[in-house]
Amino acid sequence: MSRHAIDLTGQKFGRLTVKKLHSTTAHGAWWVCQCECGQETLGLASNLKCGGKKSCGCLRREAPHCKRRGPEYLALRQQWRTLREIAAACGVSPQSVYFALKKMPGYRRV
Ligand SMILES: [Zn+2]
Repeated sequence: MSRHAIDLTGQKFGRLTVKKLHSTTAHGAWWVCQCECGQETLGLASNLKCGGKKSCGCLRREAPHCKRRGPEYLALRQQWRTLREIAAACGVSPQSVYFALKKMPGYRRV
């Protein structure tokens, strides 16, 4: 046996905590993982270790929202508030200010 299953019991990968070995296949060991959301899921050892699997799937479901909660999202939100204020002051819609801003050079560096 060239590939001996490394014991991952108790290790944490993202939201997952490895509970026990489920099975070993040609691809490697499958581990039963407890997700922070309460769901159990199976994870392939190599997938867990490389960070390819960090949740039962709930993280992926939430990802589009989570990603935007970073500094960029907050900057964007702040910008929107400013946009609204500019728009209100000019008596135009925030969208028109937004589109005008988008055409400006350097806008991408928000
Ligand atoms: Zn989950």
